Parts: sequence; structure tokens; C-alpha cells
Amino acid sequence: MNQRMPLPNWFLLQAPPNLNIEVQAWRKLAWNRVQLLEKLPNNPSQVVRDFFPSYEEEIDQIYDDFRLGAYLLRLVAATNSRLESWLIEVEGDLFERLYYDRTESPEEKLEIYREVFGEENVLKYEEFKYKMDEENNPHLAELYQQYHTSRSRAKGDFLICVHYTKVPWMVSNRKGYLRKGWVVSNETSFRGVLKKAFERRLEKEITKAQDLLGIREDIDNVVQSLEQDLSKHVQIRSQYSGGDLGGQDLFLHPEVFPPCMLQIYFEIEKTGRLVHVKRLQLGFFLKRLGMSVNDQLHFWYEKSVDNVGQSFSEFQRTSGYQIRHLYGLEGGKKDYNVPQCSTIATGYFCPYTHLAPAILTEFLKNNYYTTKKNLTLGDSQLNSVISISGSNPTQACTQYFRLVYNRTFYRKIVHPLQWTRFAMKIEGLSTPKESENKPTEE
Ligand code: SF4
Repeated sequence: MNQRMPLPNWFLLQAPPNLNIEVQAWRKLAWNRVQLLEKLPNNPSQVVRDFFPSYEEEIDQIYDDFRLGAYLLRLVAATNSRLESWLIEVEGDLFERLYYDRTESPEEKLEIYREVFGEENVLKYEEFKYKMDEENNPHLAELYQQYHTSRSRAKGDFLICVHYTKVPWMVSNRKGYLRKGWVVSNETSFRGVLKKAFERRLEKEITKAQDLLGIREDIDNVVQSLEQDLSKHVQIRSQYSGGDLGGQDLFLHPEVFPPCMLQIYFEIEKTGRLVHVKRLQLGFFLKRLGMSVNDQLHFWYEKSVDNVGQSFSEFQRTSGYQIRHLYGLEGGKKDYNVPQCSTIATGYFCPYTHLAPAILTEFLKNNYYTTKKNLTLGDSQLNSVISISGSNPTQACTQYFRLVYNRTFYRKIVHPLQWTRFAMKIEGLSTPKESENKPTEE
């Protein structure tokens, strides 16, 4: 049996601290958590430092209060599916950031893996060799050797093993070494699937939270009033200026699209067809650029070859449902956001992860900047991007941004809209608030 250590206090999915709290004070803690979640995308590391100052003596109390607030938000999310999807997404982003910034030792990290995937589904490399009688497996020894002498190894990274049933994406994409029903790989390569698994756990916790409703009138009242305030708040934000970047018909400017979205955009233009996940990815992105649902219906009607011979009204009846669904107007009424790069790398399309090096090189060199007349990039300039593309797509993307715009650029691209924000500023399309040159710890 593994020696279990306590979960870090920031970790959301553990029993909430003492619930003996006056409901209005509890409501205030929930609203503080909303402020944190709302500010997070602007500068995640800075927001974590501001809200959880690690030098404060009361840091454990601060974490407790935020977890208490988070618990009330789960009750609210249990009453409204739109808020539920919003909460799962933003809490997933916060989990990812806290894991990155506030989890230091391999033991602490393993503890989180065990908590999220189940204790029996996670093993240390040495445990795996011993328990599976793999002490003499030369491939494992080679993997260890390769990994520990690799120059591209991220600081603090280490090998772990997760049962294949918990990481099907890694199995189907042949990420890591598959042996006796386990996936062996370095810890950083599991992070995307860890976040997804965390989000699924949170969804279950929200479902469980329903059981606590209808027991105490004062709690039900506060949940109801928070639900009303939060619905207005989240709605107002998503309607603001028609999109996250301030409706300027940005969807007419592919020169500010990040590589992932531009590749998909070119593909639909050229072939008239896209696989489902690519349609979703581009659809979310166009929505966040401010494209209205009506414009998006026309966009897909005009681009897709499957609609040949169909009138627009027929198209609206047949395919319109999926597009309205993107906007939260159908089905579960979830107002989806553009996923973060780590989520895209595991469940959608990121060229750095999904294109073979030769094809990626051609794409980055030629195809991408048909939108930029004077840009010529040679193989030697792109070598540094290609060499890290598989292991560190966001770093590759950041380096590519520097080459394209010939700028010193210290922030790391972790979200497609970040690329667009900075590109807009350089292209003179807007002045975003986020500073492109603020150093980050990533
Ligand atoms: S790293 Fe992110 S922004 Fe860049 S291409 Fe991949 S998914 Fe898109």
C-alpha cells in the first residue's frame, strides 16, 4: 500500500472545511471565488499569487475559505446546467494553474494523480517495475535512460504509470510506453488528461451536491439568489461587445488566427469538409471572436460541400441545431468557451501535436503565412520550433509567434485567444489590456 500524504490545501475535491457558517458569510466566500475565476484568464500566475499569497501566515485559512466558497458554487451549479458547464471549465483552468504553480514534490503530484484517477490506477515507475515483475524489462530501462538523459526534460519532471482505462486518449494516440495494461510516460505528458479527469470528477461532485438542496430553507434561498446573480453576470460577460475580443468582425481577419484555427479554417475553405472536433473547435473560436449565431449559420452553409443542393432553410433545419448548440441555444444550453491549448492538444486539433514534423514545417513555412505577404521562414529558423513541437506545443507556438512577428515576447501562449489578442495589437486591430511583454514564470 502506498504511503498516502495529505492532499494540498488548495485542492478542491476534498471534504469541505467546517460548514458551520452563517449563510450570508458563505455567500460572500462564493462570490470571492467567482472574482478569482473571472480574473484567472488575464494572467493566471499573477492571479494565483494575488488571491493565494503564499507568504501569508493565514494561507491555509485562505485556501479553506476559497474551498468553502467553491462548495457553495457547486450547489448553485447543480441547479443550472449553463452555470454547471461554466463552473467546470473555469475550475478546470484553476486546477491546472494551481497544480502547476503550487505543487512541488513528485509525492504531492502523485497524490493528486491518485486522488483524481483512483489510488489503484497510479504507480511510481519503481513500483510498477516491482509489482508487475518488470525489473528486467530492457525497454523500461531504456526509457528511463533516455528520459533521464534527455535535454528537453522539463525541470522536476519524472516517470509515472497510469492504468490504461483512465487515459484512453494516450492509448489511442500511442503516447508513452504501453505495458501490461499500463501507460508509462513522463508526468508532464499526462497533464492534459489529468485536467480532463479532474473536470469529470467535479461534474460528479456537482451531481452529488443536488442531494443537499431542499433540506435547509436558508441555504436554498442563498443558492437561488446566487444562481440569479451569477446567471446575469455570466450572461453579461458572454454578450459583452459580441465576443471576448470586442466585436470588430475579427472573423474576417484570419491573419490574427492562431495556427490551430488557421489550419482548420484553410481546410474547410479548401475541402469543404471537417471532422467533428475540428468543426467544434473552429465554431467555438468564431463565436468568441464575436460572430453571431446567424453569421455562423451562413458561414457553415457557404463553406460546407455537404450542403450542395440544400436551401438555407433546409440547412437551418438539419445542421442548424449543432451550430445553435455551440451558442448554448439548444440541448443542455451550455455556453461553451474555446478550450485551452492543453485541452486542445489532447481532445481537439493542435498542429504541433497532431501534424507530422515534415507537414508541420511546410504548414508553418508556406501555408500559414499566405496571409502575410513579406514573411519568409527558412528550415533553420523553424528547427527550434519543430524540435520541441511534440513535447511542448505551447512553447513551440510561443517561439513561432516570436518568429512571425519578429518580437521579443515573454508571455507563453496557453490559449488560442491569447495569440489573437497579441496579434491584434501588433496588427493594429485593437489595444488589449493584457501586456504582451510582462514576464511570466512559465
Ligand atoms: S499551442 Fe495552442 S494556440 Fe498554438 S496552435 Fe496549439 S492549440 Fe493553437
